[in-house]
Amino acid sequence: MTTEESLERLRTGHKNFLAGAAAPTSSLNLIASLSNEGQHPFASVITCSDSRVAPEILFNCRLGDIFTIRAAGNVLSDYGMGSLEYAFDHLHTPLILVLGHSKCGAVKSACAHDVHGHASLQALIDKIAPAVQIAERNPDLAEDLNIEHTMHDILAYAPFQAHPEIIFGAKYDIATAKIRYLKSFDANLNITTRPWD
Ligand SMILES: [Zn+2]
Repeated sequence: MTTEESLERLRTGHKNFLAGAAAPTSSLNLIASLSNEGQHPFASVITCSDSRVAPEILFNCRLGDIFTIRAAGNVLSDYGMGSLEYAFDHLHTPLILVLGHSKCGAVKSACAHDVHGHASLQALIDKIAPAVQIAERNPDLAEDLNIEHTMHDILAYAPFQAHPEIIFGAKYDIATAKIRYLKSFDANLNITTRPWD
């Protein structure tokens, strides 16, 4: 599958989800075939751990369709980046989508400075902090910039440096269930934003 075909499949899946289509069934036949023949996910999605943002549901997908990496605030750790590299090199996923969302608790907490936790939680908030700083603590803008920062993190990692055309960003609105926009890299490696569909 090409990157464009993968993007189209995400768009169609999301359209079906919005139209109230039933979640596709992962039949026992499908499960057996995925076990015997292996997985061939058509996209890698990095998204927040938030329970309202499950990508398989938002894109109307079945088991085997999406390779998913999740952490609060849709940030990538070394392990997450390694997972992404594995999907790209070994599973040949043709597209990477960073899916942020509105009213993100992790971004909101980073904006409000109200998180008191141990080292790992602090590290997560620190990772979001640059976006918060540029956004001057405006949560909505910080969410947008945080998506872009994760896109840049991916592009900066050696396996993806030559493949900016497969890296995308989007933001899911948890109130309307719609995806607000699509971000991608232009020829000068600047991020541009256009409507999702
Ligand atoms: Zn979130």
